[in-house]
Amino acid sequence: MFLENKTSDSKFRGWIEVICGSMFSGKTEELIRRLNRAKIAKQKVEIFKPIIDTRYDEENVVSHDENTILSTAVETSSQILLYTNDVDVVGIDEAQFFDTELVSVCNKLANSGIRVIVAGLDMDYLGKPFGPLPSLLATAEYVTKVHAICMNCGNLAQYSHRIIGNDKLVVLGEKDSYEPLCRVCYNKNLLKKKSN
Ligand code: ZN
Repeated sequence: MFLENKTSDSKFRGWIEVICGSMFSGKTEELIRRLNRAKIAKQKVEIFKPIIDTRYDEENVVSHDENTILSTAVETSSQILLYTNDVDVVGIDEAQFFDTELVSVCNKLANSGIRVIVAGLDMDYLGKPFGPLPSLLATAEYVTKVHAICMNCGNLAQYSHRIIGNDKLVVLGEKDSYEPLCRVCYNKNLLKKKSN
């Protein structure tokens, strides 16, 4: 599907891939799978995530099945450009928490011949497009939407339903704070909340 061979002319190598979906959809696992394959091919890989996500480990991109890969935590997306000299592949995790400049950062990287793989939530807990993700989806060459399984009915889920009562946009947490729901079950839940 992807042109993963390293051609001799680096200017033909750069592009953007986005892996998006709800929580528990395996975005980070898919990111790590692609990055590990690039590493096996001796490509130079750097991984970044926003400093806001401190759920597990400051140093690692950690997927939920504990398949880890070393990463650099940065405060702003433009800092990524400082660490990407002489790199073949750049991975970015939890992209929804980055500033909107991430879109131009990813395009700069791709334009300079770097393969950019971005993983992030496409929608927040209200079902609204999240941070820089919509613009990234529009400018990427390749988009993969992965799905979780609805906790309620077992269909494919695309919503990250927040179980706890909190109106803040960013609530970090895992199974105690969110559950994946399909469209039907998510909407049923909204109706129930409105009638309460
Ligand atoms: Zn459902």
